[in-house]
Amino acid sequence: MRFSNKRFRLLPSIFSCILASAPWVAQAQPQPASAHVNLYFAQIADGQFDGGRWQTVITLVNTNTKGAEALIEFYNSQGAELPVDFGGGMQSKHMVQIPPEGSVTLASRPSTVPVRSGWARVFADLPLMGSASYRLWLGGRAVQEVTAPPTLPTAYYASYANRELGVAVANPRNRSLQVTASLLTADGALLGPSLIALPPYGHTAFNVRDRFPAADFRDSMLRLECVSCPDDLFLAWTMNADASGTFSSLPPGNVTPPISHWDRIWNVYQRVLHAARETDFITGPSPRLVILYDKQVNAYAKGGSEVGVYMGLSELLGDSDSELAYVVGHELGHIVQQRAGGLLLWHPDNVELDADIWGAMFAMISGYDAYAAAGALSKLAMATGSAGLMTQFFEDIIPVADAHRSFNTRMETVYEFLTFLCSTDIGRPACQDYKSILHPHLPDSAPLRIEDLERRGYRSPAEIRMRAEDLRTRLAATEAASAGEPDGGRRY
Ligand SMILES: [Zn+2]
Repeated sequence: MRFSNKRFRLLPSIFSCILASAPWVAQAQPQPASAHVNLYFAQIADGQFDGGRWQTVITLVNTNTKGAEALIEFYNSQGAELPVDFGGGMQSKHMVQIPPEGSVTLASRPSTVPVRSGWARVFADLPLMGSASYRLWLGGRAVQEVTAPPTLPTAYYASYANRELGVAVANPRNRSLQVTASLLTADGALLGPSLIALPPYGHTAFNVRDRFPAADFRDSMLRLECVSCPDDLFLAWTMNADASGTFSSLPPGNVTPPISHWDRIWNVYQRVLHAARETDFITGPSPRLVILYDKQVNAYAKGGSEVGVYMGLSELLGDSDSELAYVVGHELGHIVQQRAGGLLLWHPDNVELDADIWGAMFAMISGYDAYAAAGALSKLAMATGSAGLMTQFFEDIIPVADAHRSFNTRMETVYEFLTFLCSTDIGRPACQDYKSILHPHLPDSAPLRIEDLERRGYRSPAEIRMRAEDLRTRLAATEAASAGEPDGGRRY
């Protein structure tokens, strides 16, 4: 799959238009819906049995224009390392390079090791598509194969069921886990619950009849549920089987919400970071991502080397990756400022409004919706009880300890800047195409609309080009981050 069609090529030019003379072109990073930086496979079966063997085949696809690196780890049912031979000997950890717009396949080699089962996880530095296939060999011939999509940790799982259904449950975290299984039969009876207790990184696989002997071949539904919800998230996968002895895949049954915010933050962060790096404003070491569980709604950037995202903020923006991308982009904007010794590119004198513009830019070139800045800021206004017009007004006129302005002013800043971007000859067609892809049914008058700008103290395109050169020079001179204050305190 290639993203070289017209639509996705136009996205980056919105960003590059304003810096048309710059030597780089930012690449948008649209992603397949299933692509993720953390891929989990709840079931792996590999090894010999009398007369045949199970083979594991992992396929990873990189739709990005940069090469990706992925670490694949295998665990057995007890949560210990599970060595699998993909040609480099029996190992439980495998580092894989996936070329730009390319793919790799790892197929386990025949060995004398008896069949073992477990689960696998993949940590990648860019979102990847993936699948795990289980191939059954009998008498030297491949006779059956079923392919599982990657899954994310979930608190509930639902599946079609009959007595032969295969069920796999794995524990992705370093703590013990309890899950209950219940079966709703064709008669309307509820069988169970049956308790599944897993050690850290543990796994189990069973057929429905193993835990529910009264189950028959009629159509039923299986329900898996966390015991300590929503802290105990688990991985699940089911495989359809019937009396014929064949098997097939079923649709994923993850139930959301809740979602795994940990996995989501990582995915959004890597996407935005990679897009930001394409602009050459973030070079050198990548800022470290820290995910914090303290009960607050916040994010920060510090020392030019660390971005922190609180769970509470991810939960507030829980149904929109684009909103989270705007926040991550804002913090990466602070990273740029900190590494450049405080130089502001977009706004003459306000470090927060400057970061807001970076946030909208970085989110947009990552393939996210730039309008989501408004969603994130509005939710923050509600969550902090400051959505009232008078509150917003006083937040702008009463001096505060930091550079944050009212959420309303911040929204307006992003809005006006997007309009500003679309005001140039190069930006105009790009903005209209962007709109035709993401918001085809918005009226023409709605942003990203075209109008003349340079109000509210933004820099002119010519000045931005000049400042961009200056910024890049300073960034090149600053090898590692040193200065900079945490952007914590009041709000992100
Ligand atoms: Zn900030």
